[in-house]
Amino acid sequence: MATVTEPRRATRRAFQTKLLIGGQWRDSVSGKTFGTFNPATEEEIAQVAEGDAADIELAVKAARKAFDSGPWRKTDARDRGRLMNRLADLIEKHLDELAELETLDNGKPISESKNADLPLVIDCFRYYAGWADKIHGQTIPIRGNYFCYTKREPVGVAGQIIPWNFPMLMVAWKWGPALAAGCTVVLKPAEQTPLTALRLGELALEAGYPEGVINIVPGFGETAGAALVGHPGVDKLAFTGEGRTAQIIMRSAADTLKRITFELGGKSPNIVFADADLDAAVDGALLGLYLNQGQCCCAGSRLFVQESVHDKFVDRLAAKVKARRLGDPFDPATEQGPQVDKAQFDKILSYIAKGRDQGAKCVTGGERFGDKGFFIAPTVFTDVKDDMAIAREEIFGPVLSVIKFRDVEEVIERANTTDYGLVAAVWTRDIGKAHAIADRIRAGTVWVNCYDVFDAAAPFGGFKRSGIGRELGEKALDNYTELKTVTVALD
Ligand code: ADP
Repeated sequence: MATVTEPRRATRRAFQTKLLIGGQWRDSVSGKTFGTFNPATEEEIAQVAEGDAADIELAVKAARKAFDSGPWRKTDARDRGRLMNRLADLIEKHLDELAELETLDNGKPISESKNADLPLVIDCFRYYAGWADKIHGQTIPIRGNYFCYTKREPVGVAGQIIPWNFPMLMVAWKWGPALAAGCTVVLKPAEQTPLTALRLGELALEAGYPEGVINIVPGFGETAGAALVGHPGVDKLAFTGEGRTAQIIMRSAADTLKRITFELGGKSPNIVFADADLDAAVDGALLGLYLNQGQCCCAGSRLFVQESVHDKFVDRLAAKVKARRLGDPFDPATEQGPQVDKAQFDKILSYIAKGRDQGAKCVTGGERFGDKGFFIAPTVFTDVKDDMAIAREEIFGPVLSVIKFRDVEEVIERANTTDYGLVAAVWTRDIGKAHAIADRIRAGTVWVNCYDVFDAAAPFGGFKRSGIGRELGEKALDNYTELKTVTVALD
């Protein structure tokens, strides 16, 4: 256990800052460390061991050993489920501490860490704990006197690279199906937010996961991440992050023909018809864009509002946006914290400048909030045209583009005019219209009269450039299993 100086109002305990490899906490081979920062104060929280190719080598070796010859292979499926439930129980027991650590490292409001992220994390582990002993094959009636059956075997060592926007939840989405299926994992958390993944590693050891089953190597994408992607000992690579990074990963993974799944970005349409419950739609628009400071791959960043209610809708929306409480993420009343780091902060401000330059009207926000920390005032642009940068590119911040539309056909076409296809939402009291939209929008998830409804049982992932494969639900087990067909001659 590293003892670091306890930052003001940080966690109630010192926290882990080393690499987890083969059941041991260790320094990186190079001895290097990197700083992780509190985005609300811009102060360093801790130095964390910086893994690179040499550490990935050790971690993959440990994961291979645990998979190929360790006790994990022989662990009964039901016991894999029990272990995962034990991990979920430990997370629940330490919920407050984990929520604080997440808020400290990421900047998200404590009310969200506690009431949204953590419950989803626990639920995800419990859901996949239930799957561990239900991963069945089939018996298949083939021609001839044969007994043919399939079984689903773990794919092997899974490399998992995750982003900083939901640091713990992304661990749960990755470990849940992988460990339920019997894989071993090497996780590389995002360099901005390594702390909660390391704490989950400690809890996993406490739960009783055998050494080498879970390995965690914090570090940078171009070094640790790239080494994981290229390593021939890794059978499967799961990545959540930017499309540009996914392209690099796909090229590199081609050398070893790794199985890959991607969960990438979006520029999701949130469509409000005049016949909707407008108050509910305003709240849905707020949640859909400003949750997590707008740092959501599924953010409803293109808000299409039907012409006849546009002005009324924008008035109500802007009033609520102006009333949002920004500030200390540890204050339970805070609704919006800082962006995760300076790079994101600068990128968002540059999009706001582009929005203004290209002729959109900034109704509220449009600037930094305060003079310390990476806070950006929640921003609403109207008069947004489809070809403006703020309507086409993922901003990953609290910047909403409101776009006027006239009718169903038009909005479907415009909503689909994007390279992305992660989610969409529609607000209407006309059930036929809702289904028409759900049918014709090219996106992996469509929410009708709701937004951001996530459940461990419901698959999530993107069409088009928003991803490959699905996470969550039964479907995610496919990512971590190989199907084997066995045919036995009966005479
Ligand atoms: P973001 O801009 O949201 O940080 P990235 O795609 O850059 O999105 O990062 C998501 C994750 O991918 C992080 O863990 C990061 O370290 C990792 N990553 C970045 N570049 C690479 C790369 N070339 N190879 C492997 N992983 C990478």
